[in-house]
Amino acid sequence: MPAECYAPSVRGSVTLGDGVRIETGVGTVVADAKRPDGDLVVCSHAHTDHLPNTRSRSNTDHATATICSPLTGALAGVRRSTELEVGEHPDVTLLPAGHVAGSRAVLIDDGDTRYCYTGDVCTRDRCHLDGFEPPDADVLVMEATYGKPGYVFPDHDEIERAIFEWLEATMHRPVILVGYALGRAQKLQHIVERSARTRCLISEDVAAVNEPIERLADVTFDVERLEDVLDPDGDETLDPDGEESLEPGDALVVPSNVASSQRIQQATEGTDALTAGFSGWAAGPSFRYRGGYDETFPLSDHCDFEELLALVDAVDPDAVYTQHGFADEFAQELVSAGYRARSLRRNQATLSDF
Ligand SMILES: [Zn+2]
Repeated sequence: MPAECYAPSVRGSVTLGDGVRIETGVGTVVADAKRPDGDLVVCSHAHTDHLPNTRSRSNTDHATATICSPLTGALAGVRRSTELEVGEHPDVTLLPAGHVAGSRAVLIDDGDTRYCYTGDVCTRDRCHLDGFEPPDADVLVMEATYGKPGYVFPDHDEIERAIFEWLEATMHRPVILVGYALGRAQKLQHIVERSARTRCLISEDVAAVNEPIERLADVTFDVERLEDVLDPDGDETLDPDGEESLEPGDALVVPSNVASSQRIQQATEGTDALTAGFSGWAAGPSFRYRGGYDETFPLSDHCDFEELLALVDAVDPDAVYTQHGFADEFAQELVSAGYRARSLRRNQATLSDF
């Protein structure tokens, strides 16, 4: 059946098509859809694969405001050029999801059933973010990016310590730290600020994401824009003598598409710059090779496998639906552990299917 088709509305049913669709006693809740058409529209966070398309609302019978944090609404303006109109509903509670700045899980209580949709989620405290605190819920719809045994990360303090040690051991060279503009980049800026590195530089797209976070989340970043350093007179030309380049002691925080750009190649030419990648996938063997990194660290914005299991135990739901990453494998793990669980990859799933 095509992904766009849904089963007839059955109270309690959870389906995956364009986003996650939950039929509740307070109406159809649609979460993280490109063209949301539910009674209640939810956006968990401002990563582009979770944001609605700009100008995608064509049916005025449906909700026009989006239930999300004000920060996610503002970040949508950076990521998609149009901010979200932020709404709320008395039966929907937003819970900090611990994934990236502004990310929220939702708890919907229709008086009969409590539904929790996590979006992307992380239960560990990291830098300026508090980890997700699982609520009690009857139905849990959760991500399972690292839902496979083996994807277990060291403690966050241990990861930070390893990053600090590497930043110090490589002080005689500039370093390029590669991570998503929203999420990893903010944590890396904070880590660099607390290290012995002399300057923390950021690209324009990271600066654009920082702005609403500093304005709305009571966080500040002590950084310089790379462009202001490389091109102080703003004429968009680099000094042919190579003086306008990264220096030993510099740490540059950029997303991967910028790290591989010609501009960065020019700025790092002849500087012996090292690159580091940061991702939960660094817990596996191929991340460093595929990314061409000199060093990698398993700094993640998601739960690892053990944390996903602990999250389910804490919520103690009657039914679990998994999506993203190892959704099938994680649902199977949960079934083995005695839960009623199903991967939403299989298109149709309702409570009555169990
Ligand atoms: Zn995300």
